[in-house]
Amino acid sequence: MRKLELHWKILIGMFLGVLFAFIMVNFSWGPDFVSDFIKPFGTIFINSLKLIAVPLILASLIKGISDLKDISKLSKMGGRTIGIYILTTVIAVTIGLGIVNIIKPGNSISEATRLELVENYSGDANEKIMAAAKQQESGPLQALVDLVPSNIFKAASDNGNMLQVIFFAIFFGIGLILIPEKQAKPVKDFFDGFNEVILKLIDLIMLAAPYGVFALLAALVVEAPSADLFKALGWYALCVLLGLAIMIGFYILVVYIFTKRSPSFFVKGISPAQLLAFSTSSSAATLPVTMERVEEHLGVEEEVTSFVLPIGATVNMDGSSLYQAVAAVFIAQAFGMDLDFYTQLGIIVTATLASIGSAAVPGAGMVMLVIVLAQAGIPEAGLALIFAVDRPLDMCRTVVNVTGDAAVSMLVAKSIGKLKDEPVEKCWDDNLPA
Ligand code: ASP
Repeated sequence: MRKLELHWKILIGMFLGVLFAFIMVNFSWGPDFVSDFIKPFGTIFINSLKLIAVPLILASLIKGISDLKDISKLSKMGGRTIGIYILTTVIAVTIGLGIVNIIKPGNSISEATRLELVENYSGDANEKIMAAAKQQESGPLQALVDLVPSNIFKAASDNGNMLQVIFFAIFFGIGLILIPEKQAKPVKDFFDGFNEVILKLIDLIMLAAPYGVFALLAALVVEAPSADLFKALGWYALCVLLGLAIMIGFYILVVYIFTKRSPSFFVKGISPAQLLAFSTSSSAATLPVTMERVEEHLGVEEEVTSFVLPIGATVNMDGSSLYQAVAAVFIAQAFGMDLDFYTQLGIIVTATLASIGSAAVPGAGMVMLVIVLAQAGIPEAGLALIFAVDRPLDMCRTVVNVTGDAAVSMLVAKSIGKLKDEPVEKCWDDNLPA
């Protein structure tokens, strides 16, 4: 029998996890059992992915940049990457605004439901508001200051400092290009080998992916809030989901137009990363797998993936920015506010910047939403309105964030001649130990 492909195995794991949780909630001890004995395996799985994120970025970026052998190539690639990232984010926010203004989900929320939601979730919302206040306290150029670490070991010891690690790796890679070949060679060889080891570790971790997602989804289902609140927010959730689906269609289309790669090639290549993004709600945790898929299955050369994808995971969040636009206008509508054209234009700018500033971890988009709300003069307390459905939407927007990064890396690769001609249809487990 033909070996089952990875995305099918992951899908089966997800499905069984949900099924298992639905069975367990019927027993009084069931939810506790899932939380105590199943969830930890999901946490271990996510931790193992996060564990290799910093070494992966260091090794692959240093290798990728030194492979470029020429700084002008780097600036060309950097310019294109940032340009396309900003463009896709602006498109995402605009789609979100269009949908929420047409469907107007906020108008269907009754006064009673609004009060119930605010009452139930104001505590959770306050936590996010406080987290955002901390970020807002700093000056306008703080983000730039934060880019440059004062100590690389300190930066590398915290997954939240991914941009600092990226900065160091690029800087180091440039240094490696500039020194004579003879001295550069041993350093380069070391990082080449180091990179191979990390890629092998990803293969090994992915063997556990179907079990990891089983545990993650089972835990999510038993901890989910009541279905009634979900229903009240149905139209809002639908707007976000519709926007996200349009974005996926948009990526497939641009990949097809600019690289001539078929939709099934793209979707098949990236789907394990998408499923993982869905299960973990974290682009950062998914990054190792995104890199492997884009390189091995979508045919993008490592010099491009190693640069475009780690940066994308931290700064390019089209799904999150689209969600922020929909959520902001939804809250305004629910509070009976009318947002004029300029306020909505402001939302485009702040949602774009906010998604750049969002960390690639679960729930980060909501923290940055506070900033979008504040800028548009929408009551921050409205965050409580959307809390109940945030986790499922977070799972879906993370899928879009990851897909967007993969699509952009294909476009950048094509534009600089680094997309392999022959689509590589290699099976994930090809080089795994038997
Ligand atoms: N969870 C998202 C991500 O990691 C960020 C968000 O909360 O929107 O990409």
